[in-house]
Amino acid sequence: MNRDGRSYWLREALADDEAPAPPLVGPAECDVAIVGGGYTGMWTAYALTQRAPGIRIVLLEQDICGGGPSGRNGGFVHGWWDQLPLLVDLYGSEQALELAWAADESVAGIADFCTRHAVDAWVRRAGYLQMSASVAQDGEWEQTVETCKRLGVAEQYYELSGEEARRRCDSPVFRGAAFMPNAATVQPARLARGLRHVLVERGVRIHEGTRVQRVVDGSPMRVLTRGGEVAAPQVVLGLNAWAAGWPSFRTSLLAWGSHIVLTEPIPDRLAALGWVGGEGISDSRFTIHYFRTTADGRIAFGAGVGAAGYGGRIGTRFDHDERASERARAGFARLFPMLRDVRFVDAWGGPIDISSDRLPAIGSRAGGRLHFAHGYSGNGVGPAFLAGRILAARIDGGDDRLARLPIVNRRAKAFPPEPMRYIGARVIREALIRHDEATDAGRRPGLIVRFLAALPRLLGYRLGP
Ligand SMILES: Cc1cc2nc3c(=O)[nH]c(=O)nc-3n(C[C@H](O)[C@H](O)[C@H](O)COP(=O)(O)OP(=O)(O)OC[C@H]3O[C@@H](n4cnc5c(N)ncnc54)[C@H](O)[C@@H]3O)c2cc1C
Repeated sequence: MNRDGRSYWLREALADDEAPAPPLVGPAECDVAIVGGGYTGMWTAYALTQRAPGIRIVLLEQDICGGGPSGRNGGFVHGWWDQLPLLVDLYGSEQALELAWAADESVAGIADFCTRHAVDAWVRRAGYLQMSASVAQDGEWEQTVETCKRLGVAEQYYELSGEEARRRCDSPVFRGAAFMPNAATVQPARLARGLRHVLVERGVRIHEGTRVQRVVDGSPMRVLTRGGEVAAPQVVLGLNAWAAGWPSFRTSLLAWGSHIVLTEPIPDRLAALGWVGGEGISDSRFTIHYFRTTADGRIAFGAGVGAAGYGGRIGTRFDHDERASERARAGFARLFPMLRDVRFVDAWGGPIDISSDRLPAIGSRAGGRLHFAHGYSGNGVGPAFLAGRILAARIDGGDDRLARLPIVNRRAKAFPPEPMRYIGARVIREALIRHDEATDAGRRPGLIVRFLAALPRLLGYRLGP
């Protein structure tokens, strides 16, 4: 994170971008008011303008569009093939497949958007590799690979041998992998800013530097900010982790930080590793390491090792956290011992909106006047595209397969209220990180760490090992 508080991605994307849109001042009226200028809010706006050209949309963003995780993430784009066993568990085979195919469309959908609108978001459709990087991680994907086979979609997620995996990226600790061919990487901030440009061209009225304080139910709904107010029959909340601070979503979400460190350009070293195909790669820890290359031959290396937030407050520790960056660098050194001399030139983080089963909540309240999508749990780049299409379909009305997907208006297990949510999230987060660090080092985690790491599952949450 640079002194201006922006990630490398966003600084790169903003290099020749326009000035922020002015804040909202005074009253405004529209057909749909959208809160949040990340992918969720913006894909919803985009899908609405596709469905109903001329629709009047006002989008309010407290920072700038793409200033949140949508402009800071790892840029991995994929659907839910790796979640197929969970989807089957929740919805049965037929509906699970329907959902997985709907999520899968996001990869091509985002690539097509970039082509159609000449948005250069560095899209590379080179697939995603889930590696094993320790004995404890071996075969982590077995159930998913088996489920894909059983449901007739074996080609969507399949196992590679250690040798095949290392041919794509030659780290001595990689022991095997599963491969999802239909996955891509993007420069996330270029995607977010490109989307913003298209929305402006389509007449969406954007106000940046405009924090929404409250939404008042009624006909019309009223969206209140410090300096103005928007009246609209329909409102969309694309708040991501910030939703954890809104009273109505307080027990649906918690916020954990994820942090990325970025190397200097090292194209020759990448070539020596054989990592020239552009694959997005992760290990199989719960507090995952995820890494990908950039157009100029850097490695962006992320780690789900940041702190928990209290009361849904998203403080500056989510933007920069030296301890989390240090843990990310340690993860890098373990996975790429031959790159220990490589310099890191940037580090940044952001909040992840964790739901109790790691699938998003997408739905509507207030008699269908208030719509929301959040809880992507660290996999939102592809799924937010789907969520935007779903929310637009619900707002548009009519009989639409997207509006009826089984994930809509689902109920996941609630988290406890504060202060228990924070205490639990904090203690368990640290235990999960220590659990993964111990197994990486080939040690058996201590009894207390094992107990705490297993606790979420014992309590019925689908989190942890
Ligand atoms: C470090 C990191 C790495 C990640 N890597 C990946 C990855 O590789 N692949 C992947 O799929 N996912 C990844 N994610 C998750 C992904 O970035 C998110 O799921 C996705 O960006 C969610 O989009 P969104 O629009 O819902 O949220 P956001 O991008 O967070 O947008 C929400 C917006 O709402 C605004 N807002 C909040 N409250 C208010 C208010 N009261 N008034 C006005 N505006 C408000 C915020 O400022 C923010 O801009 C990562 C996340 C992080 C932090």
